[in-house]
Amino acid sequence: MKILFGGAAGEVTGSKHLVTFNGKKILLDCGMFQGHRKESEEKNKHFFWDPKEIDAVVLSHAHMDHSGILPFLYKEGYRGPIYCTHATRDLCAYMLADSAYIQEREVEWMKEKKKFKEGEDMEPLYGIEEAEAVMKQFVSMDYEKEFIVEDGVAVSFHDAGHILGSALVHIVFHDAKENKYLKFCFTGDLGRRGLPILRDPQPIPETEYLITETTYGNRLHASIQTIEEDLAAVVNQVAEAGGKLIIPAFALERTQEIVYHLNLLQKQNMIPDIPVYVDSPLAGNVTEVFRRHMECFDKKTQEEFSNQGDNPFGFGMLKYTRSVEDSKSLNEKSGPMIIVAASGMCEHGRVLHHLKNNLEDPKNVVLIVGYQAENTLGRKLVNGQKEVNIFGEAYQVRASVYVMDAFSGHADRSDLLDYISHVKGIKKIFLVHGEQTQLEAFKGALAENNYNDVYIPKYGEEVEIPFE
Ligand SMILES: [Zn+2]
Repeated sequence: MKILFGGAAGEVTGSKHLVTFNGKKILLDCGMFQGHRKESEEKNKHFFWDPKEIDAVVLSHAHMDHSGILPFLYKEGYRGPIYCTHATRDLCAYMLADSAYIQEREVEWMKEKKKFKEGEDMEPLYGIEEAEAVMKQFVSMDYEKEFIVEDGVAVSFHDAGHILGSALVHIVFHDAKENKYLKFCFTGDLGRRGLPILRDPQPIPETEYLITETTYGNRLHASIQTIEEDLAAVVNQVAEAGGKLIIPAFALERTQEIVYHLNLLQKQNMIPDIPVYVDSPLAGNVTEVFRRHMECFDKKTQEEFSNQGDNPFGFGMLKYTRSVEDSKSLNEKSGPMIIVAASGMCEHGRVLHHLKNNLEDPKNVVLIVGYQAENTLGRKLVNGQKEVNIFGEAYQVRASVYVMDAFSGHADRSDLLDYISHVKGIKKIFLVHGEQTQLEAFKGALAENNYNDVYIPKYGEEVEIPFE
């Protein structure tokens, strides 16, 4: 068996790894590289293999950096099955269409502003047409039920507890000639225990070769336990001042988590009944997918759903705004109110309008609940910058800016070590999906725990894995 690390090797985004066994090619994830425009375009258009020669795709979860270039794989000629969980399939239908829409709009905008240089490709990576067409190839499976992808390749999904539908991909390869087995697992992204809505990461069967993510291989998160108190304090500050609370959040998972917590806080009378607006059409669609997939919820959330038809994502004072007019009308309304809007890093989307209109008023609060990459507007706010540029104009930051990093959906160093310590039979570990410093530091942490055969593959490197 051979594995080629074709993305998220030595970096975080663009997850894709090609397994070759018995003459068959199986692609694990087909994620989008996200970074500077030129590098992204080069990496996203380059595969280390011919898409037409792939026999099957197995997808860990619906985040763009794991699934985002499936429509491009289709465009390049792939017509085989794409295996994933039921919830991942339904999420991908919205996420991929949204990604296509954003790309088409961006290309239009760049043409209009004459931003393209001579000789540059003026086409999006893919459009709505490909995003819709590729969905017909999805084959969705239950958790914990083994299925055969190719002769001698048995796959099972185990809940990764990271986002709705996320899976650890466990594969048993069978060499019929020698009658030997090779047990293998790819984590995709590993979640954390105690995250709201989701189940905790499930244990996996015996695994000799493990490919694991290391996004936070050298970090410890703040505790999940104080989320509600901390969130209540912020909401109460805004309610008393009559201001607006702006929460930039990704449409998938973080938005539903925030809504879920706000609902609980209102039910427990820890915050007053002030209106909550989820200002994102995509978040509205994604929330519908959540409602359809109760099988992915933890026990507590399932009970809340079945209690007299209570719906934790649609409580009393909550409104999902879809049209641009509704979104704009929030400006004229006076506070107190809570607005949850994308994008999560304040780089595009409706949240920019809300920030522009509300940053200069000291009654208002911006609450940062997700990772903010360098050079993003979100990072500038986190860094306490007093003046920021939005749509080319300068704005004074007079609103309070708070950061809550306990919301992370990724395992931190101790979660990763704890999870790995419960996996039986490990012979070798491959570290992917982390910045170089996180990868090296986590390799060191594993060595301290007596895992000595740990390898950090390079981008494009192929490694032979022996049957023993
Ligand atoms: Zn993810």
